[in-house]
Amino acid sequence: MPSNLPENLPENLPENLPHLEDQKIAIIGAGISGLQCASLLLEHGFNCTLFEKSRGFGGRTSTRRKDGWRFDHGAGYFTGTDSDFLPHIEALLPWQPKGTDEKFYVGATGANELAKNIAAQIIQQYTSSLSAHLGKTITTVTPTTPKGWLLKTNEGESFGPFDIVVSTAPPPQSVNIFANVESTVTQRLGDLQTYCTWALMLVTRKPLTTPDVVLAPNANISRITAEHSKPQRQALLTGSEPARNSLGQGQYVVQASRTFSQTHIEATPEEIIQLMVAELGTLWGPVPELLHSQAHRWLHAGIKVPLGEAYLLDREQGIAAAGDWCTGNSAQDAFISGANLAKAITAGS
Ligand SMILES: Cc1cc2nc3c(=O)[nH]c(=O)nc-3n(C[C@H](O)[C@H](O)[C@H](O)COP(=O)(O)OP(=O)(O)OC[C@H]3O[C@@H](n4cnc5c(N)ncnc54)[C@H](O)[C@@H]3O)c2cc1C
Repeated sequence: MPSNLPENLPENLPENLPHLEDQKIAIIGAGISGLQCASLLLEHGFNCTLFEKSRGFGGRTSTRRKDGWRFDHGAGYFTGTDSDFLPHIEALLPWQPKGTDEKFYVGATGANELAKNIAAQIIQQYTSSLSAHLGKTITTVTPTTPKGWLLKTNEGESFGPFDIVVSTAPPPQSVNIFANVESTVTQRLGDLQTYCTWALMLVTRKPLTTPDVVLAPNANISRITAEHSKPQRQALLTGSEPARNSLGQGQYVVQASRTFSQTHIEATPEEIIQLMVAELGTLWGPVPELLHSQAHRWLHAGIKVPLGEAYLLDREQGIAAAGDWCTGNSAQDAFISGANLAKAITAGS
């Protein structure tokens, strides 16, 4: 038996089914859960095709650039306890924000470094069994004859057939993607509700007089993170002409609370900037002159009540879903979910 076959092949595999390692798996979403799921499946010899609607890897562990500044406007920093996840974040930079006893991990170039590292590793190692399609939005998954699944993009392209389709998009988006699929997975996904978060990105002429990380200073703000205090971020500025002059300025991501975000879910970014800057002003006095401001709405920022199981898998149909929403709202939850789903598919039981 070749060494790259799954270790836990079930006995008596039905003859008309392809052997596990011959199965073609489509993974929708190249955030932490999708990438980790792909990583373990590839390691066990499966053939994987990744579809990601954005132009890069990382999903909600993303980084927005403005001149030389980088804003981690999704996941601000990483922590973990899982022995498989820890090495991934320990490969980043440790950060002890001033004013706290906590130790976090951050990417030198941005939060998306975590995902980029996993992606780089699998792309390099599994060139023949991995296809990665960035900038492809999957809109439908439809059954084929003989048994399989066809994926279609918003631009009308078709991919497949696949034996198994995994969606790692947030549950409401997965429900839409699986609208033509009859499966226990889609029923369970339909019960899950996400919450929205507005994230404000600011550059101020002078830093605010706050600790580097401030959690829930009032009912409308859930977190303020001083991006300029993250290791190597100031050094990165020197490579950018417009930003070189801005050393010593303040750079922040301000996350609105769930209540504020829900109340203002349909507001424009301009309205959000005005409202949230006014909120900041009520905390520590007038906000220093703003040199840049931008607001981003994460419509599906997190899950209200997690599923409470590590993944969803309908083995009979070949339909599965994974993501942080299975057990919580952190990158570690996403990693563990993707890993456990891959192990379940690999084990074939
Ligand atoms: C504002 C904010 C702050 C956060 N702070 C932290 C923090 O400090 N620490 C921490 O650990 N975590 C934090 N998180 C949570 C962390 O970002 C997530 O838990 C983690 O990134 C989820 O990974 P995932 O792979 O499950 O989902 P995602 O990252 O959402 O990945 C899903 C992917 O699917 C893609 N996709 C969706 N629909 C389609 C489609 N139709 N076709 C193709 N692709 C599709 C998306 O583009 C996305 O890349 C934060 C999140 C937010 C929003």
